[in-house]
Amino acid sequence: MLATQGLQAFYGDAQALFGIDFTLAPGEVVAVIGANGAGKSTFLKCLTGLVKAPRDAVRFRGEGIGGLPPGEIVRRGVGMVPEGRRLFPSLSVEENLLVGASARRPGPWNLRRIYQLFPVLQEKRRNPGTALSGGQQQMVAIGRALMANPEVLLCDELSLGLAPIVIQEIYRALPRLTQEGMTVVIVEQDVQTAQRVSQRLYCFQEGRVSLAAASTQVTREQVSRAYFGV
Ligand code: ATP
Repeated sequence: MLATQGLQAFYGDAQALFGIDFTLAPGEVVAVIGANGAGKSTFLKCLTGLVKAPRDAVRFRGEGIGGLPPGEIVRRGVGMVPEGRRLFPSLSVEENLLVGASARRPGPWNLRRIYQLFPVLQEKRRNPGTALSGGQQQMVAIGRALMANPEVLLCDELSLGLAPIVIQEIYRALPRLTQEGMTVVIVEQDVQTAQRVSQRLYCFQEGRVSLAAASTQVTREQVSRAYFGV
């Protein structure tokens, strides 16, 4: 449903992606792993219109979406949980969630469902988003993206800065999303987590795909080689 073909990306004259071929089928969880600077965030930004890409290098449901305005891509059904959560500090938890509803499409997700997914958010719904723990803020960021009822959810570094037990709690929500028909891409620094929660993974190295495989079938050696280039 979402694919890139020969995707290249640039920051001015500096090239960050060198021909990424990527596919995503409905209902899959696909992980993108790789070292710092490998191009994972740039890749996600190309999928959401934050970094320009040629129209047909990124295709969603058969249509070229590369370089479309980010709002247009959200309206078509591609949602993003940005790195660093980016909550609005002056808004409450519930108001932050409602921000995501501004680009709302028809679908199953609403405040009630998000509070079922993350009950702690209901308890804290009147608190300012920034008064929450890092893990709870991440839940708000996920909920905010879900409020738009995306078909595909792109998640950038969900586990960044979180304790292992909190990471597990966040990722426990994933099967609940895919049961609802959601398709998910996660960018993840933590290779073990990525392998555990995904069906397939792509490893990026210096702007190229160094490994694309079924998550349960890759060995630690293959991943190390693809990750570090050794
Ligand atoms: P990280 O895990 O550190 O976020 P990453 O795999 O997501 O790494 P990117 O952030 O996509 O990697 O970076 C890929 C390359 O693009 C790097 O060489 C980086 O220095 C460069 N880059 C990223 N953002 C910019 C920018 N705004 N301007 C110029 N170069 C950038």
